[in-house]
Amino acid sequence: MNSHTFISTRGHAPAAGFAEVLLAGLAPDGGLYLPQAWPQFSDAELAAFKGIPFQEAAYRVLSRFTGPSFTETELREAIAAAYSDFDAPQIAPLVEIGQGRYLLELFHGPTLAFKDIALQILGQLFSRALAKRGGRATIVAATSGDTGSAAIAALGGLPNIDVFVMHPLGRVSDVQRRQMTTSAHANVHNIALEGTFDDAQSIVKALFADTDFAKRISLTAVNSINFVRIAAQSVYYLTAAAALGKPATFVVPTGNFGDIFAGEAAWRMGLPIERLVIATNSNDIMARALNEGVYASGDAHPTLSPSMDIQVASNFERALFEACDRDAGWVAAAMNDFARERRLAIPQEVLASLRARYSAFAEDDAATIAAIKAIQAQTGRIIDPHTAVGVAAADELAGVPGPVVILSTAHPAKFPDAVARATGAPPPVPPRLQGLETLPERVETLPKSLPLIRDFISSRLGA
Ligand SMILES: *Cc1c(COP(=O)(O)O)cnc(C)c1O
Repeated sequence: MNSHTFISTRGHAPAAGFAEVLLAGLAPDGGLYLPQAWPQFSDAELAAFKGIPFQEAAYRVLSRFTGPSFTETELREAIAAAYSDFDAPQIAPLVEIGQGRYLLELFHGPTLAFKDIALQILGQLFSRALAKRGGRATIVAATSGDTGSAAIAALGGLPNIDVFVMHPLGRVSDVQRRQMTTSAHANVHNIALEGTFDDAQSIVKALFADTDFAKRISLTAVNSINFVRIAAQSVYYLTAAAALGKPATFVVPTGNFGDIFAGEAAWRMGLPIERLVIATNSNDIMARALNEGVYASGDAHPTLSPSMDIQVASNFERALFEACDRDAGWVAAAMNDFARERRLAIPQEVLASLRARYSAFAEDDAATIAAIKAIQAQTGRIIDPHTAVGVAAADELAGVPGPVVILSTAHPAKFPDAVARATGAPPPVPPRLQGLETLPERVETLPKSLPLIRDFISSRLGA
């Protein structure tokens, strides 16, 4: 048992190495990869994360997973390149906002959302692994708004890779859409899907399930079903906790459950965490799952925090796998039931295990607006609507001991309309977003039809 061999949550895929997991995304049995055993950090090793460069912290974490797939030099070079274009030298600065509360700012990368932190390193590792393996790869990503631009920023222009990004038509902010559709790279292909994010995500899963097609185009996923993203995101839990020097409660604006599961990963690697708080918008499948014990998916509806307009939280499968003591047979059956019924009653023992570390709150648009206003009044800072959902959830926490860290997942300038509704004025446009509205857009609008999307991908690839 080691931490650089990976198994599937559904138990019917052969064990795989790091590079294989990186390049595949989803396990061939439809499950998600997790390490056979979590690496362990001692108290001294955890304390030593204090004050070191983020790049060094990333090396200490990722090197536990990479095994023979990358040499130390390769990994260090990939990390250096990944974090060379961030606006903040600390990469993930921790900012105190008063009363033992902190914002962990994760939006200083090229596309101004936390997705850059993992996708930049994933892109660097991906092109190195692909160069070693040979051949081409086709990435198809479903995005609720931020993964798409972060994937394009990380993979646009790289050799031997094509990137297809599917966003739900009309359900991302103008800034988010333009960040994707104005890419000048020939290997970037944007699809505006006539449907929701959940429709886009299920089309990606169906493309994988079409194994002949998936093989022919070397299909891969860079959504948070790719374990490498989880590993890269666990780093900032470790650095933030070391900076604070005592166990914290982390409040995480949640959609697909990737970012908060990275917190569970840090905990499983030995980090003491007080609680992990799931903050959802009114697309509250995860809050209902935890509070009512039934994981049931409805239709996603638009909110002011579009990157969390999700009703199927893919990474929850990983948390379920851990919460049932890694009973892959149960997970496979439960996920099949859920796919059929859109509903899963969580067994008592599994629910108790989840509740031992997670709490959950759902916050609507009114609470989102109120939180943006309150933080501006208290601190002069402008926060984005996703961070605001986290702040509103933090307000509902009663009497937790220790510091409360709210993950600040996006820059407010990505969501000027929501900010203007709260504060009366859109936030200033940072240099990275200036001039976006004058660039030409490239995007194909397609219905939510698997054959049509498959044909579109084939025709673009000439495959
Ligand atoms: C993706 C995203 C989230 C949700 O993260 P998950 O890993 O999907 O739970 C929250 N906020 C922003 C700004 C995002 O882009």
